[in-house]
Amino acid sequence: MRFDIITIFPEILSSAFSAGIIKKAIEKGLLEIKVHNLRDYTHDKHRQVDDRPYGGGEGMVLKPEPIFEAVEKIKIYPDAVVYLLSPQGKRFTSELARQLATKSQLILICGRYEGVDERVAQYLVDGELSIGDYVLTGGEPAAWVIVDAVARFIPGVVGKPQSVIHDSFFNGLLDYPHYTRPREFRGMKVPSVLFSGDHEKILRWRKRKALEKTWRLRPDILAQKELSSEEKRLLDDIIKEGERNESD
Ligand code: SAM
Repeated sequence: MRFDIITIFPEILSSAFSAGIIKKAIEKGLLEIKVHNLRDYTHDKHRQVDDRPYGGGEGMVLKPEPIFEAVEKIKIYPDAVVYLLSPQGKRFTSELARQLATKSQLILICGRYEGVDERVAQYLVDGELSIGDYVLTGGEPAAWVIVDAVARFIPGVVGKPQSVIHDSFFNGLLDYPHYTRPREFRGMKVPSVLFSGDHEKILRWRKRKALEKTWRLRPDILAQKELSSEEKRLLDDIIKEGERNESD
């Protein structure tokens, strides 16, 4: 899969993909990440990418011409998806990351200043994408987040596919709790079931803990999940236990 990021500050992303799993995936040829300087798509002496807003007001707006030209040159695959990064966009989720990982090319346009000329959103891109309800100074951190999350779903990028399957959100639940050595730290003990060697028991414990954490921390995602009969039974137990603890 190929990722293309269009930005006026390519230096922000220069080391973003040069370590860890993403770097290894690039070396293995599983993905390619190209960061494009928007100024390379201008044709004037000053390489101007922004201008004052029509109608007056604060700040500067990114001009449409270099963005249209950049996307038209960069887009090489018929199934390429082009997103403008914007706090006004559709919320980026794990499910969308999974869908995007099946594409050949993802092009992300980073805005800056007051934003991007509206014609880009209206006529050029497939949509606008937001990483959350807050405003960043530019789209680059959002591009990093999106590339990283999509890349994890490309087969072979994460060494053990099982770890992606158990990750938070994949099955509509948060991940179960993880522990490592030491067995006891400042009086805090690792749950004994994890040393039992009984894999069935450990699996059941992890399933219950994943449900319990989701119920406690993210009831909103649990409400959207279709639970199996076993999960319903476990959840009933968890709720009853919670009620008992409250009344104690
Ligand atoms: N005036 C714009 C608004 O209120 O909707 C905000 C512009 S923001 C200062 C500059 C750029 O940062 C945006 O064009 C966008 O590319 C990026 N950006 C800011 N917040 C973002 C978010 N939550 N998700 C994705 N991109 C974001």
